[in-house]
Amino acid sequence: MKKSQDDLLVINNLRKSFNNDLVLDDVSLTLKEHEVKVLIGASGSGKSTLLRCINLLERIDDGQLLLAGEDIASEKIDRDRIRSQIGTVFQSFNLFPHLTVIKNIALAPVQVHGWSKEEAMQKAMDLLERFGLKEKANQYPDLLSGGQQQRVAILRAIISKPKVLLLDEVTSALDPILIGEVLSLISELKAEGMTMMIATHEMGFAYKVADELMFLHKGVIAESGKPEKLLAKPKSKELKEFLKSLHDAGRL
Ligand code: ADP
Ligand code: MG
Repeated sequence: MKKSQDDLLVINNLRKSFNNDLVLDDVSLTLKEHEVKVLIGASGSGKSTLLRCINLLERIDDGQLLLAGEDIASEKIDRDRIRSQIGTVFQSFNLFPHLTVIKNIALAPVQVHGWSKEEAMQKAMDLLERFGLKEKANQYPDLLSGGQQQRVAILRAIISKPKVLLLDEVTSALDPILIGEVLSLISELKAEGMTMMIATHEMGFAYKVADELMFLHKGVIAESGKPEKLLAKPKSKELKEFLKSLHDAGRL
């Protein structure tokens, strides 16, 4: 199987079922270092399951998952070690409510990566400063807007420099007015070279940030390619219908 130097994540022929329901069917893709792939597709098409398979929250039934050349689907793998190399942020902000913003960000580096508390707090403050959240450092999450909370969740996911960042519908729970600040943080991460797999319904953002768009339909990557090509000249009936439904809903 082809594997060049900078293939960060390689998925070959992945299959995943839930109770005899095939949810991911023969999914193959290669995510290169610094590349951003965006998953689009109707609700239930398998986007979250694919991301959950990658960070080992779900076991795959068949196929191959390689992270930096290492077979991470192996039974023998230390799942915590692999997960510590993969940053993940979901739709619902799961910040710890009893910890301040800065401690939310600094916790895992100390507990998982063995950093000193001082180093972790300093790096967390550097990040907060860089992304305009410095004055929130010592507040508790419930005093922040949803957009600020989600930005903190992303900073928490990147502080220990994961090999890849997985973002699953991170703006879906936000008021429209707060979505932009989260998307612009993600765009900044792209500009800095972060390797990402993103599931989103925000088509304008997907268009802008994706090196490659992947359209999932019933667990199959029905079509993929450069956003301008995929959106302007969809080939499959399924993608045409999906884009029409977005258009009709005023979302495209
Ligand atoms: P998407 O993120 O694109 O909306 P999901 O990956 O969440 O899609 O879901 C894909 C399919 O898998 C859906 O039919 C969903 O009902 C099913 N599914 C997801 N997680 C589970 C689970 N833990 N148990 C059973 N079925 C599941
Ligand atoms: Mg989902």
